[in-house]
Formats: sequence, C-alpha cells, structure tokens
Amino acid sequence: MPTIAPHGLHHVTAIASAPHRNVDFYTRVLGLRLIKQTVNFDAPDTWHLYYGDEQGNPSSILTFFPWPDVPPGRQGSGMTTSTAFSVPPESLGWWHRRLQALAVDVYAPHLRDAEEVVTLHDHDGMVIDLVASDGDTRSGWDGVGDIPAEHAIRGLHSVTLTERLLDPTAAMLTQLLGMNSSGESPSAARFAMADGAAGALVDVSTNARQRGLQAGGTVHHIAFRAPDLETMTGWQRELQGAGVAVTEIKDRRYFKSIYFREPGGVLFEIATDAPGFAVDEPLLELGRYLRLPPWLEPNRQQIAASLPSLGLPAD
Ligand code: ZN
Repeated sequence: MPTIAPHGLHHVTAIASAPHRNVDFYTRVLGLRLIKQTVNFDAPDTWHLYYGDEQGNPSSILTFFPWPDVPPGRQGSGMTTSTAFSVPPESLGWWHRRLQALAVDVYAPHLRDAEEVVTLHDHDGMVIDLVASDGDTRSGWDGVGDIPAEHAIRGLHSVTLTERLLDPTAAMLTQLLGMNSSGESPSAARFAMADGAAGALVDVSTNARQRGLQAGGTVHHIAFRAPDLETMTGWQRELQGAGVAVTEIKDRRYFKSIYFREPGGVLFEIATDAPGFAVDEPLLELGRYLRLPPWLEPNRQQIAASLPSLGLPAD
C-alpha cells in the first residue's frame, strides 16, 4: 500500500514572456500578491516570480519563469492544460464583468460538469479557470484596491492534465500518489488528494488531438504538498522503490523539492510546506525586492544587471 499522500497542490509553475506584463496581469488584474522576486536557481539570468495569497501559503501559489523572447507554446497532450483558482460562487459574474472591462480574453460563465467556471487567457495564452467553489475558507489576498476582499481569488482549485491515455496516469495518481478517483465526466476524470479539500484536485482529460509544446503560456510543472522533509524523504524512497526516476532533494530556499515525470510526460514536483516565503524577508515586504539564495548572493550585481525590468514603481 502506498503511503505517499500529498496534502494538495503546492504550486503551479508556468512559462511567460515579458516579465512586466506578467507582473501586471497577475497582480493588478487577478489580484494575487507578488510574494517573491527571485531568479530561476538553475538559470540565474532568468526571473522566477511567485504569486499567491498574503503569506504565500502552499496551494495558493502560481509561479512563472518569464523569458522575454520565448516563442508561444501549444496546448496538447503530455502537459498541464489548465490552472484553476477558486472564487466564491457569487463572485463569478463580478469577475467576468471585471475581466471584460479590462479587455482580458475571457469567456462568459459556463457550466462544466456541475461546476460553474469562467475561463480566461493571459497575454501569453495561458489558460486560467476561475471555479465557483462553495465552502473554500481560505481568504486570499485583499491588497488590491479595486478587488473587494469578498471577491478575492482564494487559492488554487485544481489542475487539468491532458493525456493521450488515461490509464497509466490514473494508475500513478491512485496507486502510487494515494489519490482517490472521484468520478469521471464527459470532459475529465477527477482525482482528489487528502479529503479533497480546497486546492487538492487533479483532473485528467484525454481530448487532445496533438502533443503539447512547452513554451510561452504553458505550464512547466505542478507541485504537490509534503508536510515536512522527513515525510518527503520517505516518499522519495518509495518512488525509487516503485521504479520512478526521481531526482535528489533540491533546496528551493522556500521549500525543498523532488521531481519526477508521470507516465504521460507531465513533470511533477513534491515540495515541503516549510520554511515558506518569510524565510528571507518580512511578511509585510514579501515580493518587493530581488531575493537571492545564499549561494547566488555573491553574484548579485551581475544577476540584477542581467534581469529585465518588472516595471514596478521604485520604492
Ligand atoms: Zn516548482
């Protein structure tokens, strides 16, 4: 019996083009908090921008690698094709009107397998769903003036993986990662982590006609929550025992991580809840300045000079 049991989604990481447009869209338009300005630790001349709720709690986090010259990607199989956030049911119409008024590429609220959804695209074509969710007690971030707290995005709701075949992916999710199959609908099979709490759902769709191409506007990987390092180390051993090619434990500064691919090709990460985003700056100042891990700090000047502007007002 598997003992791996992620507590929900930890974060979703995607690829964007112009960083200043990325910051503008996810903070001013969608009202997420920019919780960290840092770089891609594996390619320090590239931004890594984190958005989330006030504290950057796991399951609220969306992150981007913005590469100004990245070509557009293509949605298809072998990738995560939708990132869904939860909003209160009575807020869906408000969001639709707001996004229309801001000239965002957005569709009217529609019913998808008993859930009401507003689908939108950012300027890179990244697909975001806002899902009406009853009973999501997370508070989100209410720091954006023209978004009333009652309408704020609460956090991640689910992701949709698009696969050529359902069964191999379903087998990994249920037999190895401890998720429960919670139903099949015309559009997707749904899997729930833990007790299916907020931000703990994975949908698997098989309706793609071609393989996806990972580039601008597509998801790079999704991460699941491990409560602590000891638990994650046990899960790593269990994945190895099951023949999964899992990486060593990587220090991502705000969490520790392991990575592996599911059978359809989507990159999975497991990330620890701790230490979180206040490890290198006070909560009130999250996301305001460039933060580097200790091993990159000696190169700060050179790194800062190579990064494109985020277009934020200077403090
Ligand atoms: Zn990640």
